[in-house]
Amino acid sequence: MNAVSSRPPLTIRMRDEDNVAIVANDGGLPEGTVLPAGVPGAGLVLRDKVPQGHKVALTDLAQGDVVLRYGVPIGYALKAIPAGSWVHERLLQMPSARALDGLPIATVKPPVHEPLTGYTFEGYRNADGSVGTRNILAITTTVQCVAGVVAQAVARIKAELLPLYPNVDDVIGLEHSYGCGVAIDAPDAVIPIRTLKHISLNPNFGGEVMVVSLGCEKLQPNRLLPPGSFPIVDERGADAGPETVCLQDDAHVGFMSMLDDILQTARPHLERLNTRRRETVPASELVVGVQCGGSDAFSGVTANPAVGFCADLLVRAGATVMFSENTEVRDAVEQLTSRAATPEVAEGIIRELGWYDRYLDRGRVDRAANTTPGNKAGGLSNIAEKAMGSIIKSGSSAIAHVLSPGDKLRRDQRGLVYAATPASDFICGTLQLAAGMNLHIFTTGRGTPYGLAECPVVKVATRTDLARRWHDLMDINAGTIADGQSTIEETGWAMFRLLLDVASGRKKTWAEHWKLHNALVLFNPAPVT
Ligand code: CA
Repeated sequence: MNAVSSRPPLTIRMRDEDNVAIVANDGGLPEGTVLPAGVPGAGLVLRDKVPQGHKVALTDLAQGDVVLRYGVPIGYALKAIPAGSWVHERLLQMPSARALDGLPIATVKPPVHEPLTGYTFEGYRNADGSVGTRNILAITTTVQCVAGVVAQAVARIKAELLPLYPNVDDVIGLEHSYGCGVAIDAPDAVIPIRTLKHISLNPNFGGEVMVVSLGCEKLQPNRLLPPGSFPIVDERGADAGPETVCLQDDAHVGFMSMLDDILQTARPHLERLNTRRRETVPASELVVGVQCGGSDAFSGVTANPAVGFCADLLVRAGATVMFSENTEVRDAVEQLTSRAATPEVAEGIIRELGWYDRYLDRGRVDRAANTTPGNKAGGLSNIAEKAMGSIIKSGSSAIAHVLSPGDKLRRDQRGLVYAATPASDFICGTLQLAAGMNLHIFTTGRGTPYGLAECPVVKVATRTDLARRWHDLMDINAGTIADGQSTIEETGWAMFRLLLDVASGRKKTWAEHWKLHNALVLFNPAPVT
């Protein structure tokens, strides 16, 4: 394969004030390339080979000069960098994080967008008013000890029972590593416990709650799901705890009796789920979690801006959009607090990011621990640069609410929400599920086959090269924006329409097609024992 693109050299600058641009061409551009008229840096001769997605200096930079991308400092030159040079991470000193005091509070008046009306999808309405995009039986577990048994029970349910209930999409075990061997009374233990509880109540599970417990674990079923914290849909009274199969029950004699018990318990839940039908509901019932993973320098140029445009469309349609990833917004905290709808929301953002600063500090790291070798190979020099490209996913709406890790959105919490989570793909997705996510958008530049069993994941490629190679893993190619084949607006609209199709079950995502499911990964900042 030709290592160097045959297309004319193309550079992309995000803001007029930026003194670097990134190289868009597949394979990068060789030393000696003359940047043509009409692109940022026109007339410059490249002094180095510059890989795709990497930065080229548009002006001569002296040692100590600020390097601007997205109109903000992403670093300071460690030595003189002549125009036309490759500006890589080893040439930059990262700026320090903005202190969390004296921030602008709710100062930005967000653009007034016309409400979007008339958009609907076909979803499963739940008793609490929420809407599922899938009709899934989820089996809650209290502890990792039961995971193997539940996995075998799920396999038998799929083989023996699911064919009898054609309106049920899937059966899954909510497996996790928590439940015992943990300091369950530590203050921070509330996070994993409420996360598990709230995942059990995700709109895609139809309010059907059944639990498999071991018996001797610290996280007892009644502690996980106290009476009153979940809907009782069967004949049991309101004071009843969750319907539970306890493996240590004396009644269980032999492994098969455990499996039979779980299958027996699952049956009425499947019967009720099977009677449900999709109905037309407004697009405002979407609860969309957005995140990125395996990012490159194109993430913030193509996919994330398209997601941001789509997020604005969703908010205009009355839907809820959650963005997250604490370490990837930390360098943009001023943008967040200034976009907060109210001072209380801004204070909530400061509280969550301050808590996270201290959490990282306990481990003697800071936000800079976020970037991966792949991020850097993809052109992202440091977390300051990555953050600016990440936060674009949130669009331009005012931030209406803030959630702590593991919290569940209330029905009256609509619009753009900052759900404070780590940036880890699995932990972020798990916490967004707990918050009530019924649809997930995931952007990637390096490429990841990420998927969740609990909720459809729409994956967006940042580059055409990735979309071409991973043609049966990526649902949308935002690389066409860099190719000049489509605009951010066109891609954002296509994404919005695809979301309605996927939510309605008219289309499956590639991750659903291949059954690519990552594990639930709980965020447990408390000690283990
Ligand atoms: Ca992530």
